[in-house]
Formats: sequence, C-alpha cells, structure tokens
Amino acid sequence: MFITFEGPDGSGKTTQVQKIVHILMDEGYDVVTTREPGGTEISNQVREVLMNLRNKNMFPRTEILLFCSARAQLVEEVIRPALREGKIVISDRYSDSTLAYQGFGHGFDQQTLKQLLNFATGNLWPDMTFLLDIPAEKGLQRRISNNVEWNRMDDYQLTFHQRVRDGYMSLVEECPMRWEVINADQPENLVHEEIRRRLHDRMNQ
Ligand code: ATP
Ligand code: C5P
Ligand code: MG
Repeated sequence: MFITFEGPDGSGKTTQVQKIVHILMDEGYDVVTTREPGGTEISNQVREVLMNLRNKNMFPRTEILLFCSARAQLVEEVIRPALREGKIVISDRYSDSTLAYQGFGHGFDQQTLKQLLNFATGNLWPDMTFLLDIPAEKGLQRRISNNVEWNRMDDYQLTFHQRVRDGYMSLVEECPMRWEVINADQPENLVHEEIRRRLHDRMNQ
C-alpha cells in the first residue's frame, strides 16, 4: 500500500508522518518512509540544488524537472522495490506536490505536468493521500515561529501559497476517492487521532 501526505508548507506533514509510522510499526506492519524531494542519495543531492539559497535565479521549468528527476530516482530505488515486497510505503510529499506547487502555484498546465509525472514515476500514483489542510498563512507562521530552516522556495509570496492550498482542493475534487482531507489547524494530537482513525478505516475496508 502506497500512502502519501500532502499539504501547504507548515501544515504538519513531517510531524504526522513520524507519528503514524510509529503506530504502524508498533502494530507489526513493515513500513518504509520517504520524503520528497529526497529519500535517496541522488535525490538528496537534487534537493540540495532545489533548496540552496544561492540558486535564486532558478526558473520554474528547471524546478519542475529537478523535482521530477528526484522523484524518478526515489520511485525506482525505494518505492517500487518496497511495494513489490508487500511493504507499506509512506511518503512525505509526492507527485501531487508538483501539481499543487508547480501547477497551481506557478501556473503550469496540469495535463502537461501529469504527462511528465507519469513519465518520471512510470505511472505510479498513491493508493491513498492525506491532505493536511490549513490556511496558507497559518502554516507559514508555524514555520517562522518554530525557526524552521529557510530555503530558496520560502521566498515565494503568500498569494503563491494560497494558490497551492486552493489547488490541493481542486485535486481532491478531481479524484475524491483517493484523498482524506484532514483539518490540520488543530493541536497535533487531534490531527494524529483523525489520521489514525481514517487510515485504519481504510485498511479494514
Ligand atoms: P513543510 O511543508 O515546511 O515541510 P510540514 O508540513 O512538514 O512543513 P512540520 O514540519 O511537521 O510541517 O511542522 C511545521 C512546524 O509546525 C514544526 O515546527 C512543528 O513542530 C509545528 N507543528 C506541527 N504540527 C502542529 C500543530 N498541529 N499545531 C502547531 N504546531 C505544529
Ligand atoms: O516538505 P519540504 O519541507 O521538504 O519542502 C521543502 C520546500 O519545497 C518547501 O518550502 C516547499 O514549499 C517546496 N516545494 C515546492 N514544490 C514541491 C515540493 C516542495 O516548492 N513540489
Ligand atoms: Mg516537512
């Protein structure tokens, strides 16, 4: 089973992935966790290029291709092998981030991006995706108040992040069966309980 976590910056994806992985492992499941961009040696090198504050002159097209290249490596090296072995794979971000950030955020055409994503991943899409939904400004505020390390993409404006949040909602409308939308604007433990409940409901279906 392939599960992804999506949502605006600071919505709590990394926090919640760690919590749910803990629970699943305690329950005896074989779980592989990944994050994007990253998750392999090569993908982490690409991440460094994407995030580096020296690379402020990067064009959005370059950004798209770098995200896709990091993802291609991650799919081949980690995700597909783990799925073949029957493991649960949980990824902190995946292809929907590209549709939301580079698509709705930067304004690139969704169909073109989907073609690129299908090429990069060999048509691999998640079985289930949690959207941690939060107003863009609240997520950004969390990052600022917790002194999260600043990266090149933190320079994008609030309006960019608002398009990303709304964009995620459009993706949910397109394919509602795959998504579980969680109100992430609540204390950590309440968000966790909601995720845990919905995941177990799906696994027991
Ligand atoms: P990014 O998109 O930037 O990677 P993220 O979605 O992974 O962000 P986290 O890194 O998990 O978000 O959380 C961002 C910050 O907000 C962290 O400092 C974290 O401790 C804090 N945080 C996470 N969940 C909550 C919550 N429910 N309420 C308040 N603060 C939270
Ligand atoms: O989730 P994570 O903190 O690893 O994301 C790093 C940065 O990359 C964030 O600032 C996020 O806004 C940005 N990002 C992006 N486009 C994506 C995925 C992440 O701009 N497709
Ligand atoms: Mg994170």
